[in-house]
Amino acid sequence: MGTALSHCGFRIEHLGSSIANLNEEELILEILSTAADHSQGARPSGLKEAQQVHVVNLRSPPGLESLNFRFREDVRSAWPDEHRFQASKRSWLVQIEDHAEGLVLQIATRNEERSLEAVALDLEDSRLAASYAHRFNLYSREHARQAGFDDNIPSIKVAAPVACRVVKSHMPALLPIGAACTLFPYEDREVKKFVFDGTQDFLELAQAFFHHAAFSSGGKELVCDLQGLEQEDGSLLLIDPCILRANAKMTMAHLLKGAVREDRGFGEAACLGPISPAAEIFERLHPKCAPMCKAFDPHRSSVKQKLGVCGLDVTCGLAK
Ligand SMILES: [Zn+2]
Repeated sequence: MGTALSHCGFRIEHLGSSIANLNEEELILEILSTAADHSQGARPSGLKEAQQVHVVNLRSPPGLESLNFRFREDVRSAWPDEHRFQASKRSWLVQIEDHAEGLVLQIATRNEERSLEAVALDLEDSRLAASYAHRFNLYSREHARQAGFDDNIPSIKVAAPVACRVVKSHMPALLPIGAACTLFPYEDREVKKFVFDGTQDFLELAQAFFHHAAFSSGGKELVCDLQGLEQEDGSLLLIDPCILRANAKMTMAHLLKGAVREDRGFGEAACLGPISPAAEIFERLHPKCAPMCKAFDPHRSSVKQKLGVCGLDVTCGLAK
């Protein structure tokens, strides 16, 4: 825990390498869109469109660095060649005036990616992930009820970002006036990876959600980079997940790698397609099923029956 001082209404915090000294007029954001709130699997921020918020405290705890792992060079080369997977960002834990909960402020590193159009893509992925979380939560509760268990079971929520614009800034190089950015209702100092590159410890709820989202999309989308906070009851609060669409254009590096890979079998089964990068990613990130998966998609192993990720004996339009 760092040192916190009150100073003329300002708040100064020293946290390792990060020091912020803001007065209440120095960093002001205007909320432009709360579109990601409108999903039942979302944790809304409580912020309102057209509201101006004063950032009174800004920190960079080391635990937030994992938000940027997606944009490391070795990772980016294996993901689609598009904004959500390629545009690196800076993140801070912030507090705003008259708002009890902490938030994560995120802005693209490069100026040309600090646009409202780019931020709208961020909101759309979180909104979609939250809609999958809602479906998963409904399914989990019903499954628990049918099994005779209490339906008060761990759930998944997605921190719903709001789109903002910088109105006033004391850090114009990092947060220039007019730039678009996002605020997430997330106040923990750490973001933990749950499903990212296949090296994470197997966490059943996150893995079951990953599979369920692919299943309920008919194999058309994967909710990737599942990261955030595991709460005391086992529930997950996710922040900034991204959606991999089956028709995404992968980077050239990935395509070259995929061209020489050996077929590992999943391709035959998946509605994601026999040579789809998404099918390969599904296999890598979800190498085995959680017990919960078996209830909604018992046919993952039914390769020969062509049931695939959808679990339905119909084509999703992606399988060949
Ligand atoms: Zn599974």
